[in-house]
Amino acid sequence: MEDKGPLDVGPEEGARLLAAVAELVVGHISTIPDGPVAPAGPDTALIRERLAGYDFERPAPADDALTDVTEMLRRWGVHTTHPRYFGLFNPTPTWWGVAGELLAAGVNPQLAAYSHAPAAVEMERHVLRFMAARLGLPEASEGGFTVGGAEANLTAVVVALTRAFDDYARAGVRGLPGSPVLYASAESHLAWLKIAHMTGLGRDAVRLVPVDARHRMDLDRLREIHAADVAAGFLPFLVIGTAGTTAGGALDPLPELSAFAVEHGLHFHVDAAWAGAVALSDRLRPLLAGVELADSVTVDAHKWLSAPMGAGMFLTRHPEALARSFRASTSYMPGETADAPDPYATSVQWSRRFAGLKVFLALAVAGRPAYAAQLERDVRLGELLARLLHENGWQRINDTPLPLVCVAAPEAERSGPDHSATWHAAVADHVVTSGDAWISTVRLAGRPAIRICLTSHRTTPADVEALVSTLTQARAAHQSSA
Ligand SMILES: *Cc1c(COP(=O)(O)O)cnc(C)c1O
Repeated sequence: MEDKGPLDVGPEEGARLLAAVAELVVGHISTIPDGPVAPAGPDTALIRERLAGYDFERPAPADDALTDVTEMLRRWGVHTTHPRYFGLFNPTPTWWGVAGELLAAGVNPQLAAYSHAPAAVEMERHVLRFMAARLGLPEASEGGFTVGGAEANLTAVVVALTRAFDDYARAGVRGLPGSPVLYASAESHLAWLKIAHMTGLGRDAVRLVPVDARHRMDLDRLREIHAADVAAGFLPFLVIGTAGTTAGGALDPLPELSAFAVEHGLHFHVDAAWAGAVALSDRLRPLLAGVELADSVTVDAHKWLSAPMGAGMFLTRHPEALARSFRASTSYMPGETADAPDPYATSVQWSRRFAGLKVFLALAVAGRPAYAAQLERDVRLGELLARLLHENGWQRINDTPLPLVCVAAPEAERSGPDHSATWHAAVADHVVTSGDAWISTVRLAGRPAIRICLTSHRTTPADVEALVSTLTQARAAHQSSA
């Protein structure tokens, strides 16, 4: 037998490869602002044709393959690293985050069992404890890194069910004396529907409570719907406050929701996937007032904290409920230690990558104050954006201090919502196909609009001005159809 296996190409080749990757990544990120934010179309046939060249039988030279895939990613994708990507919370990652990602991949610790990777697990716990403290959660809070907000929210539902119903773990939803229901606003993230489907609650269990004029959960409607549910024999167990809705950045009234949850014995979860980041700024932290009362919280580091995907965080003040929710023991897993719970027995995942390292490293090197300054800068850029759009005759239809601006053109709204939706979609499409910026369309309480979110830490005031001018041109081009 050979001395070395066929996959072991040795450290010199490794070093050469990583240097080549570094050059490609730096080249990609530094030249992205010179090109279009988004491709003209998906070009699926062309992409498949190009991929057909890889039959995985004949090995391809590493440099060719690297250059080719980087080129394909460049040509056929929306660029979240572009300073004029005003998009769906997907950040331009920080260099520290990218470096942390590479380091985690290379060392590849297995974070399923504590004893396998105590340093890695403690680094993640260090970040989670820091987040918990910034949010005002008790020191004894526990949690974990997740793939993203959807997994963190799934975790919240499993923990809430486990806390509410003694028999849920053993007999499941079907063993309960009625149908459990949960409450979230009509503007909440609709991952709740998938989660209800996955957990056996069924999608009908999600009560989407109407919102007020500011797109915040309407407390009177919550009371009405809850009372009707109780009268009809349903089993309410969870109320969710969204801190920073995806569509319009609305902040639900968290202290009132907490009081409601306490009054009715419900688990109170705060979904702060995007806006939870502001906990790092003393100036912006008051926007999250009430989050400290939550039974559990979701925050995504891969949104406004500019970590590469995926890095979500789940935190709860009920460590024992978390442990009951995901307990498992097997003959083949390493035994528990007394120092900390095993991540695989307190979370959805089993084998677990070191998602927390990129967050740890970025916080360690940049420091919290730099994050606070960035978040505050983004808020000011959002204010600039809102002011410029207002001066250009756009009507803002959302009301939030967060840097997410939804606007409509009054001339297009006169002919009703269907026409308005088509018109705003055409204008957004005009902007996107120009390559100058990426924005999207949205409906807020049924009202069509254009959605613009400060998402990249590379965005400058000049980028905001450029977007407004592109948008004004697009609007003029579609004036006759308004
Ligand atoms: C993005 C988002 C989610 C889903 O998070 P992923 O990281 O995409 O899984 C859930 N809730 C809110 C409020 C979000 O903004």
